[in-house]
Amino acid sequence: MTWRSYLTHLECSRCRLTHDPSAPATVCTCGAPLLARYDLDSLRRQVSRDDIACRPPDLWRYREVLPVKSASRAVTFGEGMTPLIPLPAFGKSVGVPHLVVKDESTLPTGTFKARGAAMGVSRASELGIERVALATNGNAGAAWATYCARADIETLVVMPRDAPSITRAECTLAGARVYAVDGLIGDAGRLIAAASRSDGYFDASTLKEPYRLEGKKTIGLEIIEQLGWQAPDVIVFPTGGGVGLIAVAKAIDEMRELGWLSARRTPKLVAVQAAGCAPIVRAFTDGAEVSEAWPKGETIAFGLNVAKAFGDFLVLDAIRRSGGTAVAVSDKTMLEMQRRCYTEEGLFVCPEGAAALGAVTQLRDEAWLDEEARVVVVNTGTGLKYADIVSQDTEVLQPDDSIPKLPVTAVSF
Ligand SMILES: *Cc1c(COP(=O)(O)O)cnc(C)c1O
Ligand SMILES: [Zn+2]
Repeated sequence: MTWRSYLTHLECSRCRLTHDPSAPATVCTCGAPLLARYDLDSLRRQVSRDDIACRPPDLWRYREVLPVKSASRAVTFGEGMTPLIPLPAFGKSVGVPHLVVKDESTLPTGTFKARGAAMGVSRASELGIERVALATNGNAGAAWATYCARADIETLVVMPRDAPSITRAECTLAGARVYAVDGLIGDAGRLIAAASRSDGYFDASTLKEPYRLEGKKTIGLEIIEQLGWQAPDVIVFPTGGGVGLIAVAKAIDEMRELGWLSARRTPKLVAVQAAGCAPIVRAFTDGAEVSEAWPKGETIAFGLNVAKAFGDFLVLDAIRRSGGTAVAVSDKTMLEMQRRCYTEEGLFVCPEGAAALGAVTQLRDEAWLDEEARVVVVNTGTGLKYADIVSQDTEVLQPDDSIPKLPVTAVSF
């Protein structure tokens, strides 16, 4: 099997300074996140999208535009190529009949954080990193601890005390050292920064290293390939730290440059946040280039509880360049959408995915979306990870007279 990455360098997302990718890299000297860059001109001449299309259905099919140099360093469970699932009943009922979900619930650890972890951990392993630490709202920690277990990399995770309990268990069982803080992910981040300074941990928190983004980028590559190398009109993405949305924008830019994207238009990108923590939405509405920290964020969609995203300026730029928008959705709407999507379509989305469905409903009501729009909603994880939240909102029938007596039929052999 041929395996070649066209990675050439890392580039600062703010000051454009070039950095060497052959050593472990964190952020630029100016403090901004680094972006991986590839020799797309050579790649365009040497590999076609038809070559890609014949490969096994996992995210490594895009290895030329991924940073891992050697096949043997890929830490993998066969992740990627998650299905695009049409929602005909739900879509019709909200007036957006061409609605499909990119369903990330089947990935290892149950969320799209697996994409970022697959790439970040593989690259860390390739660069000889032995200890990583990260701040997380739960799902990223679970994914990184899982992939690090497979790569035999030591892991330190700090998460808010009320992060979904399953994520804490996943980290512990995977052998990570786990700390719970009374506070939010920003408080966890400060502890991680201290641990990386004092104890030699590599800080793999959101956008503090460049390769998690490259893993998440594959969701955009897949959506376009699965639509026959076409972009949809709109992609709706639940946005916390913003890596997913930035990564999709990067995927679109690179595919266009490679000539792999057939459409003329850029899909509009919609960032969805929780009404209880919506700094990006506020900044977008105010016309600001960066967000202000949201005080005391609160939402059941834990992945969206980020007071100030480190890459906020990149998220805002990506939304604006695409002609998209940003929408806040209440927890109440998330629970309603989660139930409706399960009842009408049999798909158990996470609250973050439910928020994205709520945003579609809202944008159609405001006529921002028209009936013809081809919309992809990203369901970033499975509802099963949030058992603590959904179990509060379910009723069951008691076994009494309301259960009809079933006729007993004789069975003959
Ligand atoms: C992390 C997470 C998000 C937000 O993704 P970002 O890339 O941080 O914006 C959304 N949904 C779920 C389930 C998550 O775990
Ligand atoms: Zn810089």
